[in-house]
Amino acid sequence: MTAPSLKGLGTPEDVWWGPGGLDAVPAVDPATVRPTGRVVVVAPHPDDEVLGVGGTLAAWAPDDVLVVAVTDGEGSHPGSPTLTPAQLVERRAGERRAALAALGVPARVHRLGLPDAGVTAADVAHGLGAVLRAGDTVLAPVADDGHPDHDAVSAGAGLAADRAGVACRRYAVWLWHWARPGQVSFDGARRLVLPGGAVAAKSAAIACFTTQIAPLSDDPRDAPVLPDAVLARFRRDTEILWGPW
Ligand SMILES: [Zn+2]
Repeated sequence: MTAPSLKGLGTPEDVWWGPGGLDAVPAVDPATVRPTGRVVVVAPHPDDEVLGVGGTLAAWAPDDVLVVAVTDGEGSHPGSPTLTPAQLVERRAGERRAALAALGVPARVHRLGLPDAGVTAADVAHGLGAVLRAGDTVLAPVADDGHPDHDAVSAGAGLAADRAGVACRRYAVWLWHWARPGQVSFDGARRLVLPGGAVAAKSAAIACFTTQIAPLSDDPRDAPVLPDAVLARFRRDTEILWGPW
């Protein structure tokens, strides 16, 4: 498969609710699929944990959440005249802390420190494998999410979960951008219908990622990574997860 395009505004949110789209995915109350043990969210970049499963985390309110931060997100604004990569790392770490607080989730963050845009599955499997323990439930990007870092994290997380003998459920971020209904297999997927409080918490959490949702300046290199049309797909009142259940 050729690399999917992550440019432009992607598939409009209303298309996802058209024929062959999300309405066909079995709907569940998040409480009925809540893990009993620790939840380990593997995030390629700071914000993926919120975009992908923030509403689910808010609804589950797990006692124990570990966010495995694969990269620090230093590569979101190449050539920015406003923020250096080091300044972006600092800003994005703070945004993540605020966002997790907005979700009401007492999460700890474990950094792997892999290079943004240079993630390998082997490095993820090694780093994640070192922190997994029996009874964990891993949440990681779906295969073919479409961003090279996400796809490497997907493969590496699957390896680590298999080796540790723990469940690995899947979420999507960039799949919603490049794919269209009919191109996505929803086998094993569930549509978690989020309570209003979880939708609001996720929205508040997204608003914390100011370096990603707002321009850093008028310079084109400072344009937002997540403009409103992209964010519309993450303001759904549902999140799709692929099992095992
Ligand atoms: Zn990402």
